[in-house]
Amino acid sequence: MNHFNPQSEIAPSVLATDLDGTLIPLPNTPDNNKDLIILKESLVATKSKLVYVTGRHFESAIDAIEQYDLPAPDWIVCDVGSAIYRRDSDGYHAFSAYERHVAAMSSGVDRQVIEDTLSTIEGLELQPLEHQQRFKTSYQSSAGAVQQLVERIKIRLQEAKLPYNCMGSLDPFLNCGLLDVMPSGISKAYALIWLSKHANFHPDEVIYSGDSGNDYAALVSGFRAIIVANGSPALADKVSKRMHERGLPDRLYLARSPATSGVLEGCRHFGLFHTAS
Ligand SMILES: [Mg+2]
Repeated sequence: MNHFNPQSEIAPSVLATDLDGTLIPLPNTPDNNKDLIILKESLVATKSKLVYVTGRHFESAIDAIEQYDLPAPDWIVCDVGSAIYRRDSDGYHAFSAYERHVAAMSSGVDRQVIEDTLSTIEGLELQPLEHQQRFKTSYQSSAGAVQQLVERIKIRLQEAKLPYNCMGSLDPFLNCGLLDVMPSGISKAYALIWLSKHANFHPDEVIYSGDSGNDYAALVSGFRAIIVANGSPALADKVSKRMHERGLPDRLYLARSPATSGVLEGCRHFGLFHTAS
């Protein structure tokens, strides 16, 4: 359930966006701060729904919202798709239906089993405890080793017959590799498509914006997709190729501006906001 067949006649009404490197203004980029204000006003004016889809854990996503004065989202998909929170009148609450769903997908295999299984792979370092979840084990590595480690982890998981998979990406700010081991099939794309079937919107209404490897599945899933200009050229190439293969080249917009400004540019391109400023 990582992709769907979109119907182009359905207009967008939901912005689902990655945070770091995408919606969060880049340092020393004043246009990003200005465009964040325009974006916020436009979301309110068009009554668009907002979903954050991030590798951050829930508390860290809330910290980012406060620190950067981001608009309050209706939903937060956190931990690279392994948890979903919903905003109610009294704050955010874990979406328990999704918790049960992820537990079922993991067949009862939790982080301890994963750590034990992968403990002898060299070059892997566990991330701090606050980045770990019951069904998500997160490691870091040197930037150059990440692809090779992803392959080694996948082989080890297969040998141990564990229903888990590994996804790697680069942290462009810390210049290190980030590796997430989660139940097979779970990704930002999976969580967002699942959410769109259990919330008050449809996947065809979603615009997704991202900048890095863990956004790939969501960018090619069938949502209208924005890659911000600071995203890696390799990612843009790979997503472009896949969208052409799927016959959906018009569903991808490569923004000319970085981060926040690129998100705003893409929302305008896809017609979420009707007025240009
Ligand atoms: Mg990012």
